[in-house]
Amino acid sequence: MSATQPRIIVLGAGMAGILAGIRLQEEGYTDITLYEKADRVGGTWRDNTYPGLTCDVPSHFYTYSFERNPDWSRHLPPGPEIQTYFERTAAKYGIDRLTRFGEEATRADYREGRWQLQFRSGHRDSADILIAATGVLHHPRYPDIAGAESFRGDLMHSARWDHSVTLEGKRIGVIGNGSTGVQIISALAGKAALLEHYQRTPQWIMPVENGVFSEAERAAFRDPEVLAQAMNVEEYMAAVEAYTQSITDMESEPARAMAKACLDNLEQSVTDPALREQLRPDHAPLCKRLVFSPDYYQAIQHPQSRLVRDGIERIEPEGIRTADGELHELDVIVYATGFHADHFMRPMTINGRNGASLDAFWADRPKAYLAVTMPDFPNLFMLNGPNGPVGNFSLIDIAEHQWGYISQLLGRLRANDCTEIAPSFEAMERFETERVAAAKNTVWYLGGCVSWYLDAEGIPSSWPWNFARFTACMAEPDWAAFGLPAPQAEASSAA
Ligand code: NAP
Repeated sequence: MSATQPRIIVLGAGMAGILAGIRLQEEGYTDITLYEKADRVGGTWRDNTYPGLTCDVPSHFYTYSFERNPDWSRHLPPGPEIQTYFERTAAKYGIDRLTRFGEEATRADYREGRWQLQFRSGHRDSADILIAATGVLHHPRYPDIAGAESFRGDLMHSARWDHSVTLEGKRIGVIGNGSTGVQIISALAGKAALLEHYQRTPQWIMPVENGVFSEAERAAFRDPEVLAQAMNVEEYMAAVEAYTQSITDMESEPARAMAKACLDNLEQSVTDPALREQLRPDHAPLCKRLVFSPDYYQAIQHPQSRLVRDGIERIEPEGIRTADGELHELDVIVYATGFHADHFMRPMTINGRNGASLDAFWADRPKAYLAVTMPDFPNLFMLNGPNGPVGNFSLIDIAEHQWGYISQLLGRLRANDCTEIAPSFEAMERFETERVAAAKNTVWYLGGCVSWYLDAEGIPSSWPWNFARFTACMAEPDWAAFGLPAPQAEASSAA
């Protein structure tokens, strides 16, 4: 490899891939190609176009730190505006120019110090450094409901919205009440002739303001100082810490405060006592990802809305048959049933050093040292890979911290300190043992619910410590874990 100008391939041109492309250029790398399987940038925000699509992270925090956006229309960013933001940012930083669209990587093999890539189109390429920015929640999970294929109406997954289907005046059934299902119900209430929400497990629903920014406010936000003041980073970071504290200590004060805010929301918003009980969560708050909604409780109380708590028996040509025997006649069924959260780069085949296969390494569960690197997969770096922090905060911020860490690892290759960077098996094992032990103390494990945070063995897959620990880990690599002396120690020994 050319140490100063290694060839770098980034897989994925969503939020994390765009970030990698921008940072690599800033850091002086010139031999960079992004590969994107779709025909434009945006990742999850390109794929998801369902009605009501919103991010529940406050707008001004849902941007790259170096590219704030004064133009958000609301306190919570609407999906289409987020997509526009990423497209604009990608164009501004020349990412489009670096990206080959319509190329899906199917295989990566590490041979003789290089990653050899194959694409579905037959195209091949190779690189010294491979950055996987392939996203987390992008493989739709279709529920296994008998008879689905017999349905005569329109059936779609929330992440594959069919915009040719008209919704006004239709009878619509939405299955699933995670953030997605709740947002869809809020958007469609009052528009459909009948809107049924199939709810298996009641959710904790946190009220949130989602006001519109006035034109004057948006004009004022063009001044970075005004925007910074409006953002109040300290308050936001305090909220992130409170959230992570609630995850790691179910009895903590923030956990109790969040539960109270959600229950007050339920008591104050839902007037019918029977409906209120049907909506009352029966597991610990934050066990599932908290749902933020300004208006779900109003939407489900709309005269044309109906909450369905009876289990789904099967789908029939005319609609959904529930366990109580009732046939719910429907024109449209929406699966808001989430994603396979354990796929990451897969279904790609990835083989590392000495033929080590990623599928074998992840046979028990997806894992990575500090969520970024893996032994035997040298010079492969993941953004938003397994075991990183996920929750009700910005994944952009997470990716930026991870980039700071990756950038330092790349720096050692560039400095010719080594030709391969991968953590030792000991470091991986130590991290994973500690992580699994800590994961068993989180509300995701102890809270008595099922969620996509859990792997096949019921172990939470996310970062099980607080946010401060994550940022500290990302601030500087533990060089010993990579078999390298600290850069300073090296400098002084050379001197
Ligand atoms: P999700 O949180 O995984 O929720 C899936 C829902 O489908 C659950 O309510 C689940 O019920 C239900 N379900 C699954 N299979 C079912 C079946 N066979 N019968 C009945 N119900 C079934 O999925 P999501 O709402 O799409 O959200 C996924 C993630 O996307 C979120 O956690 C979040 O990270 C992200 N997201 C974020 C935002 C945002 O604002 N930032 C918005 C949307 C999505 P049970 O609970 O009973 O299993």
